[in-house]
Amino acid sequence: MSLREQLCEYGRRAVELGLVIGTSGNLSVREGDLVAVTPSGVALDRLTPESCPVVDLTGRRVEGELRPSSETPMHLAVYETTDARAIVHTHSVFGTVVATTMTELPPVHYNALLLGGTVRVAEYATYGTPELAANVRAALEGGKRAALMANHGGMTLGATLEEAFEATRLLEWLCEVYVRALGVGKPTVLTEDQLAAVVDRMLNPPPL
Ligand SMILES: [Zn+2]
Repeated sequence: MSLREQLCEYGRRAVELGLVIGTSGNLSVREGDLVAVTPSGVALDRLTPESCPVVDLTGRRVEGELRPSSETPMHLAVYETTDARAIVHTHSVFGTVVATTMTELPPVHYNALLLGGTVRVAEYATYGTPELAANVRAALEGGKRAALMANHGGMTLGATLEEAFEATRLLEWLCEVYVRALGVGKPTVLTEDQLAAVVDRMLNPPPL
């Protein structure tokens, strides 16, 4: 599947799963010095490969009929400082709830390790601005695979678009668990030792 076909496929899935509504949210996937990104102003389940722009790492459009998403500078800033090859950004409900009320998502489930443990909430800045791109980049420091964005949504990285998409599903699940747990009582946060033990078990699985 071409990069632009992948955008259509995962854009459709993002809408189907309720991770985005209408034109909110954007996806990108990188190959070499080129990035295919979803266009501005088109619902993610209505994309066509031809409509999806391809930009170089400075943001100049080299292919595609439509203007790149307004969050393209944020995607490019993250590609500049990470090994990501795909990025998914959504305004999913529980991610946005956490990003509107907290400064971080604590690790209450060991699967948070797949995103780098605690997920930071990037400071608020207007969408599409270099300030927002810088804040998100800071929130990803230390090899994080996900960040939340204050009063806005969340973003995840991956080595492939499938990986970044699954990370977004996991981020939303972790946020939902945390928010629902808060409604029941005081969630217990896993300790550094407990998380280290999980990493150890992942790296050294017991023999079958
Ligand atoms: Zn957004």
